This record gives sequence, C-alpha cells and structure tokens, in this order.
Amino acid sequence: SSIFSTIPTAPPDAILGLTTQFRADRDPRKVNLGVGAYRTSDNQPYVLPVVRRVEEQLASDQSTTHEYLPQDGLKSFCDASARLILGPNSPAIADARTTTVQALSGTGALRVGLTFVARFISPNTNVYVPKQTWSNHRNVVPASGLPPTVDYRYLDSATGQVDIEALVQDLEAAPPRSVILLHGCAHNPTGADPTKEQWMQILDVVKRRNLLPFFDNAYQGFASGSLETDAWSVRAFVDAGLDMLVAQSYAKNMGMYGERVGALTVVASEKGAEDAIRSQLKAIIRAMYSSPPKHGALIVATILEDEKLFKEWEGELTKMSGRINDMRVKLKAALEKIGTPGTWDHITGQIGMFSYTGLTSQQVAFMREKYHVYMTSNGRISMAGLTDDTVQYVADAMKDAVV
Ligand code: PMP
Repeated sequence: SSIFSTIPTAPPDAILGLTTQFRADRDPRKVNLGVGAYRTSDNQPYVLPVVRRVEEQLASDQSTTHEYLPQDGLKSFCDASARLILGPNSPAIADARTTTVQALSGTGALRVGLTFVARFISPNTNVYVPKQTWSNHRNVVPASGLPPTVDYRYLDSATGQVDIEALVQDLEAAPPRSVILLHGCAHNPTGADPTKEQWMQILDVVKRRNLLPFFDNAYQGFASGSLETDAWSVRAFVDAGLDMLVAQSYAKNMGMYGERVGALTVVASEKGAEDAIRSQLKAIIRAMYSSPPKHGALIVATILEDEKLFKEWEGELTKMSGRINDMRVKLKAALEKIGTPGTWDHITGQIGMFSYTGLTSQQVAFMREKYHVYMTSNGRISMAGLTDDTVQYVADAMKDAVV
C-alpha cells in the first residue's frame, strides 16, 4: 500500500471552500457573497486601469529582467510601502527604526512576522486575536510555531459596536510581551472599527502592559477611500514609540489578489537592532520560499513612486469604496422597503468590504439551499459581490430567512 494511503482529508477552508461550492452550483440565480474580492457593478473582476497601464509599460521595457530578487524583496517597493502605511513624515522612518521586507501578500507578512516572534521573542508567546476575526488568523498563528490563538472580546452584539470595556479588560489580563493582533481598519468580519478614542484606550493598555501590537492592515484606502484615514491607528501606535509589527497587503487596494504583493514592517522603539532584524527576517524567508516574486512588487512600486499614477490610484480607491458604500445603502433600503423584521442600520454603519449581517448559521444555510446565495456561516457578506441586479434578490432571500 502507498505510504500516503492513511492521510486523512483536511476539512475545507471556511472561506475558500465556499468558492468551490459556488462554482459547482448550476442555478443561474446564484450569488457569491463569500470571498472578499472586489467586483464591478457588472459583477466582474476588476483590474485597475492604472495597474494595467504600468503592466503594459513593464512588458515592453527591455531592461526589466526575470532575475531573482533578494530574500527581502524589492527595496524601492519596501521603502514606498513603509512610507505609505507609516506616513512620509513618520518619526520611526526618520530615526531609521523600521525594517520592511516584501512578503507574499498580507498572509505571508503575518506568517513571516509570527515566525520571527516565535524565534526571537518566545515560542510560547500568546497571540491574542479578536473573538470575531478573519478565520485564517487561527491557522497562521500555530503554523508559525506559536501556541493556538487566544481570543480577546471584541464586538458588543447588542449595539454592533466595539465592546471597548471588555476588550480592554481582556488585554489587561494578557501577560507582558504577548502579541496583540489588531485589524488596522475595516475589521473583518464585523465591519466595526474602534473610534479614535477607543484606539487610544487600546494603545494605553498595550503600552502599560508592555504588549506587542501586530497590525494587520489588509484594506488601507479601500475602507474609507482615504489612505490616511485607514492608516490612522497604525500611525497613532508608532507615534507612541512602541515596538510593533505591521502587515500590509495590496490584494484589495490595488486589486492584485493573485500576485501576492505585501510587506512586513518591524518598528522598533529604539534604534540599533535594524541589521539584526533584517538579517533574521531574510534567514526566515530563505528557508521558507527563498525570495518573493517580482512582477507585482514592480507594479506597486512604480505606482507608489510616481505622483501622477499615485493620484490616479487614489481616484480608484474612492471609486471602489464608493461602490461598496452604495451597495450598503441599497441593501438596507431594499430590506426596509419589504419590511424585513429587525433593524438594518448596521449595514450602513459598518465599514470595509464586509457586512456582518447578524444572520445565524441556520439562516445562512437556508439562503444557500433555497436561494443559492453564498456567504460564510457567521453571516458575513462581501458587499463587493452585490450589484444593482442582485440586491433585491438577496434582500428577498434575507427576509425569507429571518421571518
Ligand atoms: N488579513 C485580513 C483581515 C484579511 O481580510 C485578509 C484578506 N482576506 C488578509 C489578511 C490577507 O489577504 P492576502 O494574503 O490576500 O493579502
């Protein structure tokens, strides 16, 4: 018999498994609100015109090669990424206390950063994640050589807002040097972000308790439409002079999902460790995948470094986040118009790609089976998957599920 014959089948991924199911569904009315990828008002994948143009330029530029990048990636990309998230006038950049490496999108940045924590802080470090979080956080943490995640309370389900008292209470109880994973903006799946005052309360406990914040910012510019607003939380923590890590992704904000373009930045509270940090990150990357891919990083670096292209990108962000907000307004209106029981204000109150509808897993299953509307079992819908053509159908299905 084969050496492999006893291997058990892994359960399908909570989010990606849905896409498989959706593809197999033959019903013409089917709607995919599962995976968080932007779709146009015609429900098509979107390549940002500015990205397409840079791609064409690069393709015809005879000086670009397919040589390897170093382990830490394209330097111009890393420098521009650090400026983008930390701000061009960041004190940490001015003091040269930052170390940025290219990573395989947001997930890869988390994976490399958490491996770094396991190796150089302690393999016993607890990583605290919000009780409602992106499901892959719970996979990446133990895969990086750390204990399973610990939850901190996050959402007050009665108000749909952040339960700041409970959150702070749970962080107070975390041992010093624990990693606190924070969604920088557009909390996934709840769409509820802390207010600025609440961020300052979180900052206070993190600092007082000597905790290590790890920001996961997968939606900069895509949430509010403003790159500055969506980086506010990260910059507030950097301004407070903390040690911290930041994961960035260009999947959503540049629509570069499949190109796996991201960055990890380690910000140190004191200068001096940069060379050691970089050398260790490079060693981790060397053993994991040797070096990152070049194509996407070149495109992103070109856009970030050119004033005109950058402006054009900002226009795209306004457009994409605007369409998502428009869908929020339309879904809420459609639900209210047909008298769907319950209140639906949270749909427009939430921010980011998703709406946390409050539908139960039974109601989610009902909508999938009867209406072929797909969403994750926690009732999270990707607003970008809705269009003018499907919003009424989805509202009708939701009403049928909740009555
Ligand atoms: N973190 C969060 C909270 C996310 O929602 C996502 C995207 N779904 C990611 C990280 C990383 O995605 P990627 O690896 O495609 O950049």
